[in-house]
Amino acid sequence: MEDELITQLAAIVGPEAVLSKYEDLVTYECDGYVIQRGVPRAVVFPSTTEEVSAVVKCLSAQNVPFIPRGAGTGLSGGAIPLGGEVIISLVRMRKLLEVDFENRRAVVQPGFVNLKLSNAVAHRGYYYAPDPSSQRTCTIGGNVAENAGGAHCLKYGVTTNHVLGLELVLPDGEVVDIGGVPDVPGYDLVGILTGSEGTMGIVTKMTVRLLKKPEQVQTVLAQFDRVEDASRAVSDIIAAGIIPAALEMMDEIAIEGVEAGNYPVGYPKGLGAVLLIEVDGIAAGIEDQIRQIIDVCKRRNVREVKAASDEAERTRWWNNRKQAFGAMGTLSPDYLVQDGVIPRSRLPEVLERITAISRKYGLRIANVFHAGDGNLHPLILFDSRVPGETEKAVQAGSDVLQVCADVGGSITGEHGVGIEKREEMTYIFSREEIDLQLKVRDVFNPHNLCNPDKIFPSPSRCVEVRRASG
Ligand SMILES: Cc1cc2nc3c(=O)[nH]c(=O)nc-3n(C[C@H](O)[C@H](O)[C@H](O)COP(=O)(O)OP(=O)(O)OC[C@H]3O[C@@H](n4cnc5c(N)ncnc54)[C@H](O)[C@@H]3O)c2cc1C
Repeated sequence: MEDELITQLAAIVGPEAVLSKYEDLVTYECDGYVIQRGVPRAVVFPSTTEEVSAVVKCLSAQNVPFIPRGAGTGLSGGAIPLGGEVIISLVRMRKLLEVDFENRRAVVQPGFVNLKLSNAVAHRGYYYAPDPSSQRTCTIGGNVAENAGGAHCLKYGVTTNHVLGLELVLPDGEVVDIGGVPDVPGYDLVGILTGSEGTMGIVTKMTVRLLKKPEQVQTVLAQFDRVEDASRAVSDIIAAGIIPAALEMMDEIAIEGVEAGNYPVGYPKGLGAVLLIEVDGIAAGIEDQIRQIIDVCKRRNVREVKAASDEAERTRWWNNRKQAFGAMGTLSPDYLVQDGVIPRSRLPEVLERITAISRKYGLRIANVFHAGDGNLHPLILFDSRVPGETEKAVQAGSDVLQVCADVGGSITGEHGVGIEKREEMTYIFSREEIDLQLKVRDVFNPHNLCNPDKIFPSPSRCVEVRRASG
């Protein structure tokens, strides 16, 4: 039976485009989420939409579940097979199909790497705005599935604000086109599919928005002794009516990590927090905004604040910030990234509560975040070789998300729910609200063959919550 399925898949995509040996399959047992693993039954590499459709038809006819996968950089376990699913890898579908400068749009295949799009259109002064820190590796298909964000999404919006149309292979193999023309009437299906984490079908083509590069960009670096002052400066900047292109923050432990990493800036030891604040737009207004930002930081007791003196300095600051997750390897053998969202104004209080969680579990927590939109990334440092420490890290992460929910925030800003935060969905949704979402999923994926066991909590957990809430 097993050989028969592999033979059928190989007949569709060619034998060299199917992996079925254990030693090949283990490479696909996890993504960027390191806590759980599962070996797939096979990995298939289609090259065209027709091949994706034929593979999906073959699998669904035999009731075999499957998972779409891009570059595997997801941080919530969305591409991890928990029940021996077949992985459909989109990495061979990596063409830039069309660039339409006149209408400011591009058409790409799902395996096209994020940064390559900006690079491909830079010569005409355009770029693709969503810029996850993983943008050198992650695919635009994966970005659409996770509704990825990035440092510059504060001003320009996340992936959903830049997707105009999709080609989708439904879980029964049918191919449909969604959106793609201006002002589509009816339901916003592109909006529903963006962020659906591969549970509604496989995206095989995307039409995305291109933006003109701003006339001028300037970046300010502000160093604070106290994280509270930096947090208050974040709210003050927005309250002053400035919408920076990016407003990023790192706390003391995060600074320790990035300074030991590959791109140190030379921050002094014992610094409480740094803010990286970028403004862009027409040249005329930039200087005034920079002056206002520097004034706000001074009123909040900044130790040192300055605008980048040239492009090289600005790049140095950004490289330092963008390597923050990886740099945690200099502080700890393992780390778990969390991804909560809070109202900006609650930042000082939430940081205090995160410190209390860190003490409770005896684990260091570094904070790196898109402060402007309240998207926190607490990095919980642990050592999986120490018995019980992994469980503690997972529980500490869940406690952090509970805090985010308590203050009116969300359990994920950009990394998705995947398998990691399924149970935490009950922190922000009632059973009825979860059921409603499941009904929407079932319209697209009625037999739950496409990326099963993702996003939604186990039914028993929902019942517990209902009982608890009466
Ligand atoms: C160092 C590091 C930094 C990161 N920084 C950021 C950041 O700043 N912002 C951010 O948002 N994320 C960030 N991430 C997370 C990750 O890069 C994003 O979630 C990214 O969008 C995943 O893309 P991928 O191609 O790796 O997808 P994968 O990990 O392969 O898949 C992710 C999910 O998408 C589904 N999927 C993939 N392709 C398709 C498709 N064609 N059709 C349907 N479903 C599909 C999969 O089933 C899975 O559920 C970071 C990750 C790392 C490791």
